[in-house]
Amino acid sequence: MEYLGWDQVEMGAILPSFESETCDIALTPRDKRDYSKNNTYNASVADWRVFKPVYNRETCIDCQNCWVFCPDTAIISVDKKMVGIDYEHCKGCGVCAEVCPTNPKSLIMFEETVDNEEALMKWPEKKRKEK
Ligand code: SF4
Ligand code: SF4
Repeated sequence: MEYLGWDQVEMGAILPSFESETCDIALTPRDKRDYSKNNTYNASVADWRVFKPVYNRETCIDCQNCWVFCPDTAIISVDKKMVGIDYEHCKGCGVCAEVCPTNPKSLIMFEETVDNEEALMKWPEKKRKEK
């Protein structure tokens, strides 16, 4: 896909996010939406990451905190159930892991080079409250 340079976009130009009607967009799964070529959904930031969030379904309570706080809408949630991470759009900021309330956390940042299965095997135990 060819992108326009910042000085090639006409002043006041509108860059629509979608090619078609958007009335049901919130109910349309993200991979079924008719994104325009201007939409950043078509651009990947995967190679920005140094650390990545790894998700552990075993401890997740589907509170949606990560979904609400992710600045890149890179948390995939369907019908209020956390599904995983969209690694094409996650830039590795760590906000999701920070706001995850479970003990142990259900999202933990690991180095990008660590395999997810390996990360899950290293998951920490539940921390006991100090008296
Ligand atoms: S690391 Fe940042 S960008 Fe990636 S899913 Fe978490 S909050 Fe979103
Ligand atoms: S914040 Fe943690 S517990 Fe809540 S949905 Fe996200 S991963 Fe699950």
